Amino acid sequence: MEIIPGIHQIKVPIPDNPLGFLNCYVLKGKSGWLMIDTGWYTQDAFNALEAGLKGMGLNFSDIETIVVTHVHADHYGLAGRIKQVSPSTKLMTHRWEGDLIESRYIKFAELRDKMGAVLALHGVPQVDLDSLQSASMPVLEYVSVTMPDVSLYGGEVLSTGIFNLEVLWTPGHSPGHICLWESEHRILFSGDHILPEITPNISFHVQSGDSPLADFINSLNKLRNLPATQVLPAHENIFANLRERIDQIKEHHEQRKEEIRGVIRQEPQNAWFISSQITWNIPQPWDQFNSLDRRIAVTETIAHLEYMRWEGSVERLLQDGIIVYRVAS
Ligand SMILES: [Zn+2]
Repeated sequence: MEIIPGIHQIKVPIPDNPLGFLNCYVLKGKSGWLMIDTGWYTQDAFNALEAGLKGMGLNFSDIETIVVTHVHADHYGLAGRIKQVSPSTKLMTHRWEGDLIESRYIKFAELRDKMGAVLALHGVPQVDLDSLQSASMPVLEYVSVTMPDVSLYGGEVLSTGIFNLEVLWTPGHSPGHICLWESEHRILFSGDHILPEITPNISFHVQSGDSPLADFINSLNKLRNLPATQVLPAHENIFANLRERIDQIKEHHEQRKEEIRGVIRQEPQNAWFISSQITWNIPQPWDQFNSLDRRIAVTETIAHLEYMRWEGSVERLLQDGIIVYRVAS
């Protein structure tokens, strides 16, 4: 699909995932094309991308540059595979995302153990610990690892000779997440930072920094005054109401905080318990959640609690070796 002359969207399927598709964008350049995000490393995804390019009269070797908004498998997974068929293609990502590749996708055992320690500290019981700390491991098979050729820091302008993309560092969903702003056509490539329907997952992680939700809200505020006429997200559909959508997402997190405050109003509680008491957008009751859903729930809850602590509305203390939170006195 051609969005404006020279900017195309290819929908790349994501298997067994409610998101359904990753939106890959391909932008025309004078000496080659620039691709934003790639899709998972599966044969179906590779075929879909290849077919999409063929429909535009292109091969992978016409892609001069791949920019990944962050290194989650659905955005970065195919980059290594593409570089195998087109070795001259340059991969760019934010410096902080580049640093995550080795620990997440190569030497992953150490990271899994560290994550296990964090989960235990937040009250995850021993019987659930193994499955929760390993819950993100299946994603490994959807990544074809390659290292970035160029590190980005934010503030650069990537020019294709036709389009000029300003790199906007928007940490939160991932510490080195970037958006790309094409000011002449007022187009924002928003990655997973801002999606039209779902709110992106903001989770506490050993690599997320102290308060990923504070980072995320700051990153939303940073984009609020952009005069965008079209927002091109990495999932779901293209939308126009950037400021309104940012305000909705901020409101969503305010409501989550309110719900959490209700659980700890009487006495201090740990993040695992709090997660079991608040509402989730999952049809099953809490005790039937699968491990990955539970892990996402508890790490999102920690992100909210740490944000509230950063604001000064809750306090954190250690009780019998477990972190609990209470309403600030
Ligand atoms: Zn993501």
